[in-house]
Amino acid sequence: MFTTQPFVHRTNADGVIDSFCRKCLITIASSQWEAELDRAERNHQCDPIQLEYVRGVLNRPQASGTSASEAPPGSLQPPPYGNS
Ligand SMILES: [Zn+2]
Repeated sequence: MFTTQPFVHRTNADGVIDSFCRKCLITIASSQWEAELDRAERNHQCDPIQLEYVRGVLNRPQASGTSASEAPPGSLQPPPYGNS
């Protein structure tokens, strides 16, 4: 079942817990204390600019560099054999 929690916690090897926002993907807080993370999460508001950026990265079209694959104008092509 998919959880709808807006924040993800990751515990590091040194015991510090990182809290990420699922929506804007930034690290909200890093602390050993859950209460501190909780407070930061309560105060967190997604930055609209960051949200736009995340949306743009996730929805980036794969068709980049189509013009780069075109042959440059004036490029010399070798004549086909048997046509002379
Ligand atoms: Zn956020």
